[in-house]
Amino acid sequence: MNYHIQTCFHHFICTGAECEDTCCKGWRIRIDRQSYRNYLQVSGAFGHRLFWEIDHGRRSFRMRGRACAFLNREGFCDIYKELGRKGLCRGCREYPRHRENYGQLQEVMLSLSCPEAARLILEDETQGMWKEKKRPAVFWEQQTAVRKNWPKPELLEDLEELRRTMVCLIKDRSVDWRQRQAMLLALAHDFQRHWNKIREAGYPYSRQRRRQWGKRLSKRYLAREAAGRFARRLEHLQGAGKEQRIRIAAWMRLMQRMEPVLFGWEQKAARMCSSLYHQRSAAEYQLLCLDFDEAAASLEQEWENLMLYFVNTYVLGAVYDGDVYTKVKLAVFGTRIIREWCLFRYGTSGKINREELAGAAYRYSREVENCDENLDLLEEELGQNPLFGLEEMLKGI
Ligand code: SF4
Repeated sequence: MNYHIQTCFHHFICTGAECEDTCCKGWRIRIDRQSYRNYLQVSGAFGHRLFWEIDHGRRSFRMRGRACAFLNREGFCDIYKELGRKGLCRGCREYPRHRENYGQLQEVMLSLSCPEAARLILEDETQGMWKEKKRPAVFWEQQTAVRKNWPKPELLEDLEELRRTMVCLIKDRSVDWRQRQAMLLALAHDFQRHWNKIREAGYPYSRQRRRQWGKRLSKRYLAREAAGRFARRLEHLQGAGKEQRIRIAAWMRLMQRMEPVLFGWEQKAARMCSSLYHQRSAAEYQLLCLDFDEAAASLEQEWENLMLYFVNTYVLGAVYDGDVYTKVKLAVFGTRIIREWCLFRYGTSGKINREELAGAAYRYSREVENCDENLDLLEEELGQNPLFGLEEMLKGI
């Protein structure tokens, strides 16, 4: 019966009219079902406007140029002006805060898709930890009444243990960054294989036995000699940079297939692919990567925070579909694509710093995380396409 709050959650203050890329611009804002129903009930001139300014097929606000049709010239929202805070759809009311329910646990965190939240997430030295609060029993009784099909607590316990191990792995700077990502994938792969077996057998393990199993697994990955063992295994896989470029180019092509959420996304993605993989030879690309790695060496904390954000956001979601391996792949994929995005920017502007990284991170998050179709497409591809098998992914990171 816990309630987890992201450590930087309360530090967030919306920069409002000063925001460099306000959430009312550059993407389509989806409307939740309840708010959509409410909007259809609004009468008078504003009700009329609401009807015409909503794209009913997509259940989203129409865009005027790059902005939401309700963003006025002063930079304020007309829905807020006419209907008050309660009139905002759920996304606008809560954004960039979001909460996840995992049965006996609820977690609240900031979304990476807001530039200000992205900056906070990247600079937060305590990322990966949570402020814990106990909720009164009555709260959980109310929640249970609303949601009957809550996941089993033992599934959640297993996943929490796995996530703790992953956080330790991500923070271990004695291990090379690429290797840490590889170990994360391998750990999720091993966990999934075993988890599938015991879930299919109807969870015959006692709590104590499950804990022992979880501890054994984390010991195997966190032990001092584990990194050396992995480095040897990965050497022959990750040796050739050419192999890596072929994989990452294919990953970027998958990004090109996404439903455009960001304004001009198709052209942006095409420009990135063309600049990195067509106009540059393999040797030039390698050289750019070496330069970039050197210039970005001081951003170790930021890369770790990015991966921690993805792991914290996705892993426990497996209580609902049992597929933790795909979720960890999604975390690694996201971090890798953001790196490639920064590489492209570095290739054109010669700059890489926290601001650049936050810019690429929030744009990736808007394009992928804030669009269910794109997230579903990615999960399906990562789960089924052989391009995202374990070995293939290890070659790509
Ligand atoms: S993107 Fe974030 S900082 Fe910018 S207006 Fe929206 S909530 Fe505020």
